[in-house]
Amino acid sequence: MHWYKISVRPARLGGDEFGVLLRGGPTLGQAAERVAASICEAISAPVILPQTQTRVSASVGITYFSHEETKPEELIRQADLAMYSVKRSGRHGYRIYDPGLEATASRQLHTDLLQALTRRELHVAYQPLWNPPDGLLTGYEALLRWQHAHFGEISPRVFIPIAEQTGLIASFGAYVLRAACTAAHDWPDQVRLCVNISPLQLTDAHFAETVMQALAESGLPPHRLELEITESRLALDHEGALHQLVQLKEEGVRVAVDDFGTGAASLEMMHRFGLNRMKIDRRFISGLPDDERGYAIVHALIRLAHDLGAQVTAEGVEHMEQALCLMELGCDEMQGYLFGHPEAPKSILANQDAPLAVVAAS
Ligand code: C2E
Ligand code: MG
Ligand code: MG
Repeated sequence: MHWYKISVRPARLGGDEFGVLLRGGPTLGQAAERVAASICEAISAPVILPQTQTRVSASVGITYFSHEETKPEELIRQADLAMYSVKRSGRHGYRIYDPGLEATASRQLHTDLLQALTRRELHVAYQPLWNPPDGLLTGYEALLRWQHAHFGEISPRVFIPIAEQTGLIASFGAYVLRAACTAAHDWPDQVRLCVNISPLQLTDAHFAETVMQALAESGLPPHRLELEITESRLALDHEGALHQLVQLKEEGVRVAVDDFGTGAASLEMMHRFGLNRMKIDRRFISGLPDDERGYAIVHALIRLAHDLGAQVTAEGVEHMEQALCLMELGCDEMQGYLFGHPEAPKSILANQDAPLAVVAAS
């Protein structure tokens, strides 16, 4: 009989969602199911409160890492889909991801997504961006949230691709632009607003018009808006897309490339289009300062961006050591749980007086 060491590393993914990473050998399949079953059992134990007792349940989605090319985000998305399927069939229990879930889950979520706007289940959260050396709050990134009536919060990594496949992204994108520009109008002048734009939105011939309309209606000056575009061939190859970005830049709107380094078109985007900002993806930041290759890549990217006249934001900064290393490398701006989580609009204005120089004070 063979025994395999299984290490369990739980982590909070946000809200009431937790991830568990299991490493092991060929018997991992059974182990994952055993762990899932024991999580469900432990969580469903009665909770004794004064004069009453209550119960909670857990819904667990399981997926396996089977291919070198699979990105961590993709694994989380697959586990999420499996988890939603448990929730849909009455909660409490676990399910293993299989590709057959894609079509069913997309269909079901699409039906629900169609009603999400009218049911007011969508809202925008804002995550702060900081310039640690000066201790200044420099902006907020608008992040779309879907509070599903039965499933609770659904990750944008799950619903944005469905919105893209079904064409709903245009109305969702317009909603985020309107809501975020209106919120940002009340922020101090030096605090900019960053909005994520799907490359598919750029192929809509009215996209630039939608942006300018959101700015005009809210009264937010164009230079305070920055559009974050994930690098993609679509944005480069679609003539109309590039043309609209150029047009918006001429109006004063700023443009950033998001998740830099995760795809093959990042450098070409920097080359073909005068981007204002490069956002370095979290995967290069997470190992700093010890990861020597990560350090070399971040070092080179900061230099490259600066040589091209662009600024740099590091994504996913979670620890002080990472922030200190990035400061030393001359990074202009940082974003991550070290500085703040995405929050509802009403609580963010209070942050502007909160301790700013988290890193500078260390
Ligand atoms: P993104 O634009 O790269 O946004 C950053 C993501 O990283 C956010 O996830 C944020 O909550 C998370 N994050 C920030 N700091 C940390 C950290 O220190 N550690 C870790 N582990 N994560 C951190 P979120 O909100 O789940 O959004 C995921 C992605 O969904 C976004 O990635 C963006 O690509 C997309 N998205 C979100 N809102 C919109 C939207 O309104 N429109 C479009 N087209 N896409 C959106
Ligand atoms: Mg972004
Ligand atoms: Mg990003």
